[in-house]
Amino acid sequence: MSGPQAGSAAIEIGAVAKPPFVRLPDLAAVFQSRAARLEALASGHPLADYLSFIGQLARAQDAALRAMPPGSLPGPAEIASAQAARQAPLDPRHWRRDAAWLAALDQLLARMGEAELPAPAQAALAQLAGLEQRHREALADRVLRGQTSALDAAASCFVWAALQVHWTRMAALLDPADLRPLADPCACPACAAAAAWSLVHAASGLHNTRSLACALCATEWHHVRIKCAHCASTKGIAYHHVAELGAGIKAETCDECRTYTKIFYLTQDPALDPPADDLASLALDVLVSEAGWDRAVPNPFLLPGGDDSAPG
Ligand SMILES: [Zn+2]
Ligand SMILES: [Zn+2]
Repeated sequence: MSGPQAGSAAIEIGAVAKPPFVRLPDLAAVFQSRAARLEALASGHPLADYLSFIGQLARAQDAALRAMPPGSLPGPAEIASAQAARQAPLDPRHWRRDAAWLAALDQLLARMGEAELPAPAQAALAQLAGLEQRHREALADRVLRGQTSALDAAASCFVWAALQVHWTRMAALLDPADLRPLADPCACPACAAAAAWSLVHAASGLHNTRSLACALCATEWHHVRIKCAHCASTKGIAYHHVAELGAGIKAETCDECRTYTKIFYLTQDPALDPPADDLASLALDVLVSEAGWDRAVPNPFLLPGGDDSAPG
């Protein structure tokens, strides 16, 4: 149904790219461009307030990143042992985060404290500000394991944002040559998180190649087209979209594992930013989940607590 056609070959010639295995995040741009994208998406959107809030948080993440102390990174010995064990060097189950993430959290709390926020977010800021370090660490452990509850949903959102700053910074400072494919091709080679998004590139040298993307450390890694982003099956893959969102955002569904992962076609719209556009395209989640597929990896900023009935 979607095989290559003779008619399209002429356009593709010259555009065939051999992509690098990994692309590490660009610290100068990652949170700044996400904030700008969220601000643009918020305009006229039914979820404008929410998108603006996450945009403000991305601005605060950018500031926290620039202000944070130089944390520790895996050295040659840790890299070698991760490679030998086929583990990701920043896998939170093996790599113990240092206190730099707490500095990022304090920065976020201070910056967001200056913003006009809804009451639940203000309460979460106050709760986190008064929390002892060991309880902050315990909450971070739960957030990283995806074990947060509705009770601490708002606080988890800020903790996740700080962990994201910390892991993105560490990933950006790795040498891409040190990263190897893991046994699970759908897990981030830098931190082992399951792929949250998928994207098809437009940039020259990458044109039409596809990557999976990590929500924790913003690393992207190569993954062939038409292959499940969650279980790597090549059978039973289909694509769904919602007309109002345009042709740049689709849900890739897999009949083997019954999940879906959103795929963002920068070839259709180079302004797309998966973490931001994911939040602005909940209509697609509604469509696909009503048709019977579960989301493979939830957007961390929509984690529990969320009011499931909201975007009906
Ligand atoms: Zn990662
Ligand atoms: Zn699958």
